[in-house]
Formats: sequence, C-alpha cells, structure tokens
Amino acid sequence: MKLLFGVRLCGPSYHMDLPAYVEIVFPLNLDQGFTYALPSELRDIVQVGQRVIAPLGKRNQQGMIITTMLQKPDGLKAELREIVNVVDPIPIFDSHLVNLLKWISRYYFTPLGKVVQTAIPSDARLKKEVLVQATADLVANSDLTRLLANRTITKLSALKRRFGGVTALLEVARLQRLGHVELENEFISRRAPIQDWLVRLDLRIEPDPPKNAREQRRLLDLLIDFPDGIALKILTEEYAISRDVVRRLADKDLVILEEIPPDIDPLKDYHRPPPKTVSLNREQQVAFEAITSALDEEKFEPFMLFGVPGSGKTEVYLEATAHALDKGRSAIILVPEIALAPQIAHRFQSRFGEGVALWHSNLKGAERVWTWQQIQKGRIRIVVGARSAILTPIQDLGLIIVDEEQEHSYKQEDSEPRYHARDVALMRGQEESAVVVLGSATPSLESYYNMSTQRYTSLALNDRWEKAQSPLVELVDMNKELEESEDYQNPISRPLKKAIDETLHQGHQIILFQNRRGYSPIVRCRDCGWTMSCPNDEITLTYHKHGNKMRCHYCDHQAAPPSVCPACQSADLQFGGTGTQKIEEALSEQFPEVPVARMDLDTTRGKGAHQKLLGDFARGEKRILLGTQMIAKGLDFERVTLVGVINADAGLHYPDFRARERTFQLVYQVSGRSGRGEFPGKVIIQTWMPEEQSILYATRQDVKKFYAAELDDRNQLNYPPFSRMISLGFVGKDRNTVIQQAENVASNLRSSEQIRLLGPSPALIERSHWGFHWKLILKSDKGQDPTGGKLRKAAARVVDGWNSSRVRLRVDTDPYQLL
Ligand code: ADP
Ligand code: ZN
Repeated sequence: MKLLFGVRLCGPSYHMDLPAYVEIVFPLNLDQGFTYALPSELRDIVQVGQRVIAPLGKRNQQGMIITTMLQKPDGLKAELREIVNVVDPIPIFDSHLVNLLKWISRYYFTPLGKVVQTAIPSDARLKKEVLVQATADLVANSDLTRLLANRTITKLSALKRRFGGVTALLEVARLQRLGHVELENEFISRRAPIQDWLVRLDLRIEPDPPKNAREQRRLLDLLIDFPDGIALKILTEEYAISRDVVRRLADKDLVILEEIPPDIDPLKDYHRPPPKTVSLNREQQVAFEAITSALDEEKFEPFMLFGVPGSGKTEVYLEATAHALDKGRSAIILVPEIALAPQIAHRFQSRFGEGVALWHSNLKGAERVWTWQQIQKGRIRIVVGARSAILTPIQDLGLIIVDEEQEHSYKQEDSEPRYHARDVALMRGQEESAVVVLGSATPSLESYYNMSTQRYTSLALNDRWEKAQSPLVELVDMNKELEESEDYQNPISRPLKKAIDETLHQGHQIILFQNRRGYSPIVRCRDCGWTMSCPNDEITLTYHKHGNKMRCHYCDHQAAPPSVCPACQSADLQFGGTGTQKIEEALSEQFPEVPVARMDLDTTRGKGAHQKLLGDFARGEKRILLGTQMIAKGLDFERVTLVGVINADAGLHYPDFRARERTFQLVYQVSGRSGRGEFPGKVIIQTWMPEEQSILYATRQDVKKFYAAELDDRNQLNYPPFSRMISLGFVGKDRNTVIQQAENVASNLRSSEQIRLLGPSPALIERSHWGFHWKLILKSDKGQDPTGGKLRKAAARVVDGWNSSRVRLRVDTDPYQLL
C-alpha cells in the first residue's frame, strides 16, 4: 500500500493494479534485461510482448517488454530511466510465447533479446503501422473521433501527425479499452513490396476532386466502373494513370489501396492430389481418439505416433487438426523442409484451403512479413512449416505435430539460439496446454526411449494402408562385386544395372541415392600420397566436373584442378571417391537415352529449383531421380518401383555416436520410397560393410531389433538418451590461446563430480574463416543428474564467467555435432 501511494495520487483508483515498472530486452548480444520506470500516462497501455522505445546508453532503442511489475525490484538503485514510447498498442507476442522465448534463452544459453529477434521476421523489425478501425459504438464527439468515424481505416501515424504522438496514442488506447475502435498491427517491409495493390473508391465519401486536377478526375471516373477495385499495375500500364495520381487521391482518402496478397505458394507448380474422403481404420481410430480426447480436456499431452511409412500418419494428423479447428483452436505442423516434402503441405492445403500458411526457408522479404502478419492477426489457423514455424505467433494453439521428429534439420546449429524444434514444441505444448504429436517410422533414440518409458503416450500404426507388398530388398556386397566384375571404375553394380534396365523397360521410375555431391570428393597423388585440401580449413576439396573446378563444400573456396602433384611433380593423380556428378556421368554412359534429374545442393540453389526438379520427375519427364539425402524422405511417387543406394555406409565413417542411428534411418526411409503405389517395389543397397547392424536391420525393416541393440550400446557408453550433453566451442584467431582457454575451463570443471568431460579437442574442422575451433563436451549421467540441472549449472558458470576478448565461446545444448 505504501509503495503504491504515489501512484494513487496521480490517477484514478484503478491505477492501483497498474504496472509501474517494466523489464525490457533489446535485440543485442546482452544477456540481461533492463528495468525502466513507466511514465504515468503509459501505465494503462503497457503489456508483456509489446515493443517500446527506451533510452539505452546515449540513444533511444527499440526493445520488448518481457515483464511488468507493480513495484520496483529489490536492490535496484533509486533512479530508473523512463521508457519513451510504446510501439505496439497491441502486443505482438502473447505471454505464452514470451514465456517460451524465455525458456529458449535459458535452456540454450542465448540472450533473450537475440531469441526475440529470431522470432520476428527481419523485415518486420523496424517499420510498422497501426491501423485504427472504428466500431459501431464510436461516438463522434471530437476532431479525432469524427475523423475515425468518417473512414473505414485510419493509420495511427496519420493521427499522430495531426494530433501529436502521445495524445493520439493515449486517446486511441482509451477508445480501444472502451471497445470503440479496433487496432491491427501492420508491418511494412522495408524492401520494395513485390506484391501489387488493389485500388478502389471509398464509396462512403462523395468524390470531390479539385476542379483543375484532370488526371485525378479521370481516375475517379474510371474507378466507378470497377466497384471491386482494379490492380495498380493495370491502371498504370493499360490506362496510363500515373502512380502519383493514385497516391494523391489516396492521401485525400478518396481512394482506398489494399494490398493484394503476394504469391507465396512454393508448391503451385506441383501437381496436387485432390482431397479424399477417408474413414479411419481401427489403429488410426484409436490414435485419433487418444489425441482428440486430450484436445478436449485442453491439456498438454505428448504422443508418439509410431507408424510404418504409408500407414496413414498424415491422415491422422489431418483428422486431429480438423478436430482442433472445430474446438476453436489452431495447429502448427512441423515438417523437416517443405520444398523437399511437399506432399504433406499439399494435403493440408487441399483439405483446409486458405486457412493454411506455409512457413519455409524460401519465403523472402515482403512475403515472409505478410505471412507472419496473417498468423499474428489470427487469420491463419494452421501453419505448416519448417523449424522456425514453432516460433510463429499463432493464437489459441491447441495442437502441434512434429512429423519425422528424428530429422536432423529440426536442430538449428549454425547460429544462436541452437534450438531443437521438437523440444521447443514440447515446451510450447506445456506452456499453452496443447497436445503434441511426434510422428515417425524411425524415431530418434531419445524419443523411442521416452516412448518405451511411457513419458510419451505411444500410438502405433503397424500396417500400411494400401496393402502394397513390402519392397524386395537386396544387399550388394561391393567388395565381392568388384572382385567378380573387375570393373573398378563403375559405381553401379551389375545387380543394380540389371534392375534399372528392367524398371525402365516396364515404364516405371527410379530413385538413386548418393550422399555426396560433386564428381570426386578426393584428389590424391598416387606417388607421394598428397591430397588437395582447402587453404582455409583443410577440408579436402571435391572435384566438380561441371566448370572443371575444385571446390570446398564448407567455405566454397574454389581452385583449378591440379595437373601435376605440387609436392612431388608426379602426374599420376587419382580423382577418387564418388559424387553425384560421377553417377550422373555413369548413367549417361550406360543409359544414354534416359532423362535423369540430378538433385543436390549444386542443382537446387535457385529459387523454385527444387519444385521444378520434383515436378519434372512427378510428371514423368525424367525417368531417374538421382540425389543426395535431400531426396531421401517424404517423397511419394506412385511410379517409382526401384530405389538404389549407391553407398549405404558413407555416413558410418563419421566418428559420431549418432552415425549408426542416421544410417539406419536413411536406409530404412530410402527403402520405403519404393513401390508406394499399386506396383511392387524393389530396393538395391550397395555397401562395403554388409555385416553392419544398422544396414542389416534397416534392409529387413526391423525397427525394434535395431533400437534394442542401439539402446544397449548407448547405455554401455553412456550416451544420450542415458546422459545429457552440452558442447562448449572455443573459437579465436590464435591457436595457442584457444587451446589455453579450453584447457582452463576443463581444469576448473574437473573438480565437479557429476560432470564428465570429453576433450578439449580440435573440432572436426579446426581451422575456418573464424579462426581456430576447439571443443569441450560436458556430459552428465541421467542417473545422477535426472533433470540436467547440474549440467546446466556447470555450463552456466562457464558462460557467466566468460570474459575473454580473444576467444569466443559457443554453447550448444543437446548438440548434434560433437566434433
Ligand atoms: P504416412 O503419413 O504414415 O506415410 P499416409 O497418411 O501418407 O501415411 O497414408 C498412405 C496412403 O494411404 C495415402 O495415400 C493415404 O491417403 C492413404 N490412407 C491412409 N489411411 C487412409 C484411410 N483411412 N482412408 C483412405 N486412405 C487412407
Ligand atoms: Zn574451405
């Protein structure tokens, strides 16, 4: 009471519950928020999730309110600076989303301001407009209210110019509280909008242009013929009306400009299956009911939908989403990458139409802002998207689906926050009392373990819907094959060649998988053993026949291919290893008439390139689809009856505890791509390691055996899911300093009993553009540190105490890349 006394003096009594202080974060690399006092006139409009302008150092900066407080926090010095202004009359994030961002900041050791920044599309960061719209209740009793009443929509900036900034803001906030106006945030891309505008007359106003403005009168006359409006582009190009004339009339509010939504559908060229009516089978029905009853109870519950490919997981997602919508709630569907797995996005679009937004990496600039805005305004009820879709401000969230939850691409590795979208989805589900469904045929070991220990409710779909026969899988031992064929240059074995011939003959299609791009990944001197590597990071350079260049796949350094060895002058250079270009060449030699689509990073750089290649293949213009892991999942082509894996064990040579899990998932999924339609399929897997368990079990599609064996191994070696890890990276220009700092941290941590250390050791790519890179892995056993609290505390000590200016610290919680 005493503290609030001052507040009570300066306002009516309802001020009692109004905040007097706020905590603000700025989009900077600062790991703390700042507390500000609120000027009394702003107290009744501030809310968590609003952006505000506040003084920071000598300048005013834009930040976001993350906490509102009635009282000054203890221990703060007496004088606090005041915030200057409120940017958003309505918050752009609700308090649930703000809480989620706070969790991400803590869990992934990333400054909250930076996390907030990732959740706002960059183009929407600065320029913004607030639209004010009068409701039927508005009483026109002042200049400002009369102005509002006379127009459909008024820009807040216009009111501010006319009536003064703070006055306009306060008056609008008051009218909003009374329900006399509605507000909407409108983000304006700073780049030129790529979309067009619809121009129409405001029919509520008597057009009365100045007598001498002939062009303006011409436009008004013209618009009478287009009561629904006409595109600006057509006006300028076909009717020779200048943009300036349109703008002048718009300034006078005689015409209305409306944005025509940009064309943001990345899948529009792709053929679309019509929606079909389904009636769920028994297993699907059980899964559906479990999910919907959790939805009805409006509680958080995590499910693992564990279903073989083609068992109807997507049908269950669709039905569950329809149910969520019926309940007035919305849904987020996470997919590894939309351009690569278009089917699922299509099925949502053809089922739910306009209410679906696609959120993906190809959305640029204005398109991204526009989509985000539609979501933020609540016009979108379903978001289908890749990783960052989990951070979109969708309202009334009820259902989150993470399809192919084991996918590596859910983990952000290159930049902060290094979050895992599946784990963030589970947190968001908890925060918003939403149901979370993880779907997979080959779950991550972590999720499989959580399912077997009942942390996730398990829902199993054991049968394919269409009783397609399981594909016939054949393993080709390449050691034997080369011995017998003596054709050492040919990456395509005789059984694979024969199968390709047969499939082509039947008029069907083929997918070939090779996990390396380029032509030859290794150039080596046969005499002295010299290999050609990148001067920046010592990664071996890959020979690209196209353009006749050596290229680094890490930093894209390029060089001419050597003709003699620079070390010993020998001309006996070997272009070894096999990339997609070499396979493409082998195919064109052995099947000269057959059109091949090659899909790898090199052929898909341009916008729309993915869709074009997949579209060509879907329409049958290409007979063979050859590609890297980007073609391994989600593709569903009826006429593909042969899948070939050129080298199944390529991924096993990485010294990584997830290498076997990945190999298993890959081979399993690739195998599942064959024979999804009415024709039986065949799979041929070439390997140099035919005894390897991950390959053997995958070819037999024996999921349970592989997981049992792999869990056992992980337990023995104390790897996740039996332990937790945080990776610390040390990066700096001077190698010795980097090592020294890493050693210091390690020796400080050695005293703590529960934390085990791996390293410090050089990163897989020790030298890069940024300097030298060393790693130290912190690990704690779940038996001794069940919540991971001790591990995080140890990491937090390092992060908080970090003050080296010469070495940067990079923290990665639950890392995927250990090296
Ligand atoms: P998954 O997502 O598990 O790979 P899908 O949902 O794509 O499986 O199902 C495979 C095929 O079977 C699809 O063509 C799908 O439409 C069809 N299907 C699955 N369940 C049903 C059902 N209950 N009624 C009709 N078609 C179904
Ligand atoms: Zn390089």
